[in-house]
Amino acid sequence: MIDLKNLTIEKAHAALEKGEYTCRELTEAYLEVIKEKNKELNAYLEVFDDALAEADKAQKKFENGTATLLTGIPFAIKDNILFEGHIASAGSKILENYTATYDAFVIKKLKEEGAVILGRTNMDEFAMGSSTQTSAYGVTRNPIDTSLVPGGSSGGSAAAVAADMALVALGTETCGSVREPSAFCGLVGLKPTYGALSRNGIIAMGNSLDQVSPFGKTVRDTEIIFNTLSKYDKEDSTSAVEALRSKENKSMGKKIGIPWHLFEEGVDPVIMANFKESMEKLENAGYEIVDIKLPHSKYSLAVYYIIMPAEVSTNLSRFDGIRYGLSEPGANLMEVYKKSRGKGFGAEARRRILLGTYVLSHGYYDAYYNKAVKVREKIKQEVLQAFEDVDLIATPTVPILPFKLGEKLNDPVAMYLCDIFSAPANLAGVPSIALPSGKTDKNLPLSIQFMATHWDEDALFDVGKKFETLK
Ligand code: GLN
Repeated sequence: MIDLKNLTIEKAHAALEKGEYTCRELTEAYLEVIKEKNKELNAYLEVFDDALAEADKAQKKFENGTATLLTGIPFAIKDNILFEGHIASAGSKILENYTATYDAFVIKKLKEEGAVILGRTNMDEFAMGSSTQTSAYGVTRNPIDTSLVPGGSSGGSAAAVAADMALVALGTETCGSVREPSAFCGLVGLKPTYGALSRNGIIAMGNSLDQVSPFGKTVRDTEIIFNTLSKYDKEDSTSAVEALRSKENKSMGKKIGIPWHLFEEGVDPVIMANFKESMEKLENAGYEIVDIKLPHSKYSLAVYYIIMPAEVSTNLSRFDGIRYGLSEPGANLMEVYKKSRGKGFGAEARRRILLGTYVLSHGYYDAYYNKAVKVREKIKQEVLQAFEDVDLIATPTVPILPFKLGEKLNDPVAMYLCDIFSAPANLAGVPSIALPSGKTDKNLPLSIQFMATHWDEDALFDVGKKFETLK
């Protein structure tokens, strides 16, 4: 029996290299757990039937000496990442039968390494949500307590890793969609610098915010995935050229800024106590903790919920019943559009298309969208300025504990509040990592998050690994 619970990429790699088990056996071990648990959890929407063939190909790499750290490593991927020849539905009815015609850049990279892609995971429709309850394919349950949500929008990927149904997984972040489910499922989640991982082949939500983001049980696992996938892609105009990714000026400093004023209210007292305790541990380990002010960041959520729907309304306009996915017959073109979109999009997607169309409409554009873009720039500048003095910024990852399935579904604003600490990193484009920071007395996971300046992922890995030893 392979100890999947405590497995990491490096441990699996060492075992595969020594021949303790084969890539096929490792993949089979995960498929076995999927068979046992997926019915209840609904983490995977589909398990790919070519996974074992990929595992056999990976095994060849071990035999001919070309294996790398990710060779044979079983991954789960979110349902909005294109994998040629496989369905990618973004959790939506409108793409129910859409088969990807090419590989996303990150999939190409994983294939080059010989990683094994087990299947595609459930998500909030088009990545809109914080609980994986807006998927057209049913909710995903939290493996820690199946009456709770796993977080979202990448809840399927998080549940898959937490339940040992994949060693690691890819999700995407537009605003917390990997960090929040990491917090709810007790995992590490990394949101990279905007432009680090190519968006080529990712079904866009808010393209000025979206980033492919890895899940793992350890900081090192997310680091390995980041290092492999963070490469310039000439086919993504927002992919950063190599020169920008320079390692120069990187800080391994130990000065942590805490914007206390941002979480004076609305944070669960258990989370607050855990956050303070976590910071004390770091202080005792030699970190310097200072109070910082991010005066505009209190508007992050408001800004996000204007910019994101504006981009969503534009990005989702391509789903018109003609070019992709669901197509409903109609008497004329307008009717085809209306019927296809009306049937294909769920309530949350429609809400955001309406909001976005409104904030971009003539007469409101200046009052909402343009204003939000300006405030976003202020937030970015103040975050970057803070990093002139501190190396890291710390906050709790989410202000609330994992909640019950069904909760907040009829209260979109309460759902949006889950993103309050996520938004600044996505708006400013800086990297951020969510780290498990203990458990409540009811065994629910707790999480803290760090941000660093652009391209300083190493600072996040450094503090993360240190924090892992302090438990
Ligand atoms: N909770 C965020 C939202 O609903 C999640 C977005 C994301 O990161 N994909 O917009």
